[in-house]
Amino acid sequence: MSQLNGPDEIADQRGTYILVLEAIEKFQIRIKQLKWTFQPGLLLYFGSAKGLTSNSLRNRVKRHFTTKKKNFWHIDYLTTHSAIVLHRAYLNLDERSTECQNLAAFSKDVEIAILSNFGSSDCKNKCGGHLVYLTSKYLNLKWLDDYFGEREWLKITEGT
Ligand SMILES: [Zn+2]
Repeated sequence: MSQLNGPDEIADQRGTYILVLEAIEKFQIRIKQLKWTFQPGLLLYFGSAKGLTSNSLRNRVKRHFTTKKKNFWHIDYLTTHSAIVLHRAYLNLDERSTECQNLAAFSKDVEIAILSNFGSSDCKNKCGGHLVYLTSKYLNLKWLDDYFGEREWLKITEGT
């Protein structure tokens, strides 16, 4: 699949993305009244960047790959967690795409389990959460590269 060599190669534009994260051990996260328990496995986070310059897709993805930051969004608590590996991000450069549509399309093809209310505070589409576990054992990074590559998403990995 097509690949970018780091977030700086992303144009100053809007778009959506999916983060591929792996929990390497069991842990819990509490944010205000909410609590989630994570088991080892692959997770996908569906997000969007709906602005330009500081709110662009480039800056958003760059932020996700940074481990030193002040936690603001739910996802920040994962990308800064010692039991989480951020393997890669897939980018959808269609500015009209939404994270909710991306999640709906993916969940038609693949078995997932949604982590309730994670990352979906501003969701208007009743997704139930924007972070999902991949529940089928055959779904690995290679499978995901092929799946999103066929759909012409771009891949981006850390530190390249
Ligand atoms: Zn949603």
